[in-house]
Amino acid sequence: MIVINAGSAGRMAASEASKFTAPNFVRAPANVLCAGMVVPHLRLFAIMNERAMLTDAPPRDENRAGFLESDRTRILDLPHDNRLLSIAKSIESAMQAGKTADVRRACAGFLAEASSFYKVRNCTVRVLAARPLQVREHFTTELFGDYTIETMLIRLWMRTAIRKEVTSYGTLLNTLCHEFCHHLDFHLFRFADSWHTRGFYERTAALYHHARGTPQKRLFWVPLTGGRWRIDWQKTRRGA
Ligand SMILES: [Zn+2]
Repeated sequence: MIVINAGSAGRMAASEASKFTAPNFVRAPANVLCAGMVVPHLRLFAIMNERAMLTDAPPRDENRAGFLESDRTRILDLPHDNRLLSIAKSIESAMQAGKTADVRRACAGFLAEASSFYKVRNCTVRVLAARPLQVREHFTTELFGDYTIETMLIRLWMRTAIRKEVTSYGTLLNTLCHEFCHHLDFHLFRFADSWHTRGFYERTAALYHHARGTPQKRLFWVPLTGGRWRIDWQKTRRGA
């Protein structure tokens, strides 16, 4: 089953995976960002709702130390030049033209440049058309993107599930940066897993704002039960 409130502990059977293409829609839950899941032999990290930024619960097993290190690692080195910014702009232009193949090429260029900067193996990207939906009894969630560890493949969906409108540039770039940061967790930081910690979200935000040319923002967090955190959007937007 899919554990939508949890991170990398989530599990998804193949029969559940097929539900991603179901056509029904109710509304997305507000509390999900990205759930890790396992389809046979593959581990996926899938973004399901880009607005909710909720951390995973700290594991109680031998992964706890790695989780805490990920949480503490708030800073990500960034290029001192505009190499990622200019490629990101080419993603935006390709999206405006609406051609999936051009968007994929631009995203692949972004990943190649970013992988070269961080000196990690390159990952591949596929850009797909309308987002699939995960249908549950009371709500439906749209899938924005995912990263598969074994294949180092990022998939992005370019159109919304219902109206088939082109995803906003900010959403697509944010999803790309998020999935690439899962890649960095394994290949740069060498964590045993890729948890959604405060550090993970802050590294992702740093990469996103750098690539988009927008000011870096301090993220404010609210503690929840079980050692989890959610972002405080009001404070984060105000900057205090
Ligand atoms: Zn994720």
